[in-house]
Amino acid sequence: MFTTELIQQFKELETPFYFYDTDLLDSTLAEVKKYAQRYDFTVHYAVKANTNSEIMSRIAKEGLGADCVSGNEVTQALAVGFQADDIVFAGVGKSDKEILTALEADIFCFNSESVQELEVIQELAQRVEKVARIALRLNPNVKANTHKYITTGLEENKFGISLSQLPEVLQVLEKCKNLELVGIHFHIGSQILDLENFRNLCQRLNEIQDTFEEKNLPLKHINVGGGLGIDYRSPNSNPMSNFEAYFQLFAENIQRRPNQKIHFELGRSIVGQCGSLITKVLYLKEGLKKKFVITDAGMNDLIRPSLYQAYHKIENITSTAETAETYDVVGPVCESTDCFDKNVSLKQTQRGDLLAIRSAGAYGEVMISNYNLRDRAKSYCKDWLLNQ
Ligand SMILES: *Cc1c(COP(=O)(O)O)cnc(C)c1O
Repeated sequence: MFTTELIQQFKELETPFYFYDTDLLDSTLAEVKKYAQRYDFTVHYAVKANTNSEIMSRIAKEGLGADCVSGNEVTQALAVGFQADDIVFAGVGKSDKEILTALEADIFCFNSESVQELEVIQELAQRVEKVARIALRLNPNVKANTHKYITTGLEENKFGISLSQLPEVLQVLEKCKNLELVGIHFHIGSQILDLENFRNLCQRLNEIQDTFEEKNLPLKHINVGGGLGIDYRSPNSNPMSNFEAYFQLFAENIQRRPNQKIHFELGRSIVGQCGSLITKVLYLKEGLKKKFVITDAGMNDLIRPSLYQAYHKIENITSTAETAETYDVVGPVCESTDCFDKNVSLKQTQRGDLLAIRSAGAYGEVMISNYNLRDRAKSYCKDWLLNQ
């Protein structure tokens, strides 16, 4: 991933910074499109994974839709070239202002999560004389084998409408003249590697679809959300998720009705592997039991390890040493959780070396904060760096 030419460029830049391998992004998008088109599936990019406008506009150019979870994401999606018709808007707590933004833009669909939210969308839609298309986000009570902080499809989670509340929801919908029910939506979690979880989702979805049809409510759209995981351990040997198997599983397991559209909302699997956080080693410190590598990037630049105990592979990309050593790689922020990983084997490391913290394209740059009043890390795309 890091050619000598690139590393030469890196040395000129202020660290830390995000680096995006735009070639990998392009080939990932080509793969997604290839296998989604095989089954005539519609893919929306889950914008919250990475709202960098270079990245977003590249994805928009490839013709994907956008899945947004805030009014500002809707605004940004439109600004970088996503079509309003291809935008869905999810989220358990949409504010009035956000709903109005989306109504005024005439987005394709609101993924709605509660009775009260439906009532508010109705009221606002009536006020601005629009009809809002609605997909009900249902809680399928399907477990995703992933970190407990990123499961979303269980009854104990805050997301979605429980099936037991469906009769009430449908009653409310019937009264709401400015709402049009167009489908159902699910999203069971993130970083899901075992496709069995998605098979279980399909089974629940088929049962739920039958329930709707019994009530004479055919569904034009089924949105199965996102959540496909990436290989954080081996980003070099496994730079892309298995989109072929993923889409095939849905094609084989959803009882799709004629002319029904099936939507996906992929975030991490589209952008995760193309990003790395590049950081400079400030100091080496010998503890009593440990050797610490202290980097100029901290948890404010990439919070996933501190927030979800997430693993990121770390490489020393400038050391020419023949031997490796074991270090804890820690940041400068005044928190003990500001640690990227413990007991990492790196080529023998010195002050000034550059480290790449890999697979940081999703939920990395978007979660930057300026805690400790630290500077905001910049970002660079590969094609830009090589062509300047
Ligand atoms: C976060 C989110 C996604 C994307 O999840 P990934 O794991 O990044 O694919 C899709 N849909 C909804 C509703 C989300 O909240």
